[in-house]
Amino acid sequence: MGAIHEYKRGDKGKVIQEINIKLTGFGKGLLPLLEFTKETEKAVSMFQKDYIKIEPTGIANYKTLKSIDEFCKKYKQKLSDYECPCTNSSITERPNKDKRCTGFGKKQFKEKYKSASKTEKNHKYEYPGIHRSLLWGISAVQFYMEDTDYKIKSIYRGYRCWADNLHNPNHTNRTSTNHMGKAADLHFLKNGKRTKEVTDLEYIREHFFSKYLGAPKSGAGQTHGFGWKKGKFGLEPKKFNSGSSGATTWVHVDLREIGKINLEDQFFSKEQNEVIGKNLID
Ligand SMILES: [Zn+2]
Ligand SMILES: [Zn+2]
Repeated sequence: MGAIHEYKRGDKGKVIQEINIKLTGFGKGLLPLLEFTKETEKAVSMFQKDYIKIEPTGIANYKTLKSIDEFCKKYKQKLSDYECPCTNSSITERPNKDKRCTGFGKKQFKEKYKSASKTEKNHKYEYPGIHRSLLWGISAVQFYMEDTDYKIKSIYRGYRCWADNLHNPNHTNRTSTNHMGKAADLHFLKNGKRTKEVTDLEYIREHFFSKYLGAPKSGAGQTHGFGWKKGKFGLEPKKFNSGSSGATTWVHVDLREIGKINLEDQFFSKEQNEVIGKNLID
């Protein structure tokens, strides 16, 4: 039995799920579903047009699958950049040794919530790694930034476990849960120099993260734009409705609102070889 090397709308299976994960940033935040949907078709078309530079068909043929493998090899995220301050060697302030995790939490607090409201925002769970759709979304942003004035400078923060929330000497009563596998904070270069300008960060949010990852630009309940919507990637605004400051000199992107079935453990990686996983073509 020969391997199948062509997929189209309506097809289902693990390979389709891999396509949905790896092309999330070509499909406005494609969800990691097992089905080749209309959205998958649009993402494949966009990948064909922008990455392979061929006439788009929306059908994932041999050449397209081969090119996705090539994209993955070239743009894969380095998981060590996303490690918790507990172990990340580029971060000096960290919790005491006895409290530290090994990089991606301790899988504590599954289905435990900070309050009676069982929303993902309140979910205390330390997911087992970084969500692969987030990683590949950032890879697509990296690709689309080529030939522009902007470039990702660094993953300033990836994972932050409960030990980092509560026992890092820099801050000892943080209670946010987004960074437990579902978020990253990024710093950027403009023409080779770190930019902290609000106008640049707003531009990057809109023209890269909203445009390619489908994060809401407005209408998500935030006066200053961006924010969170069901089924979508989210962006922290520069300023919250409360007036407190948000992501001023960085971009915070997360996928906490993509829905429970899309946040299963299987989607999170803590080993570098799991980021790409299997190639689509052997
Ligand atoms: Zn940690
Ligand atoms: Zn953040």
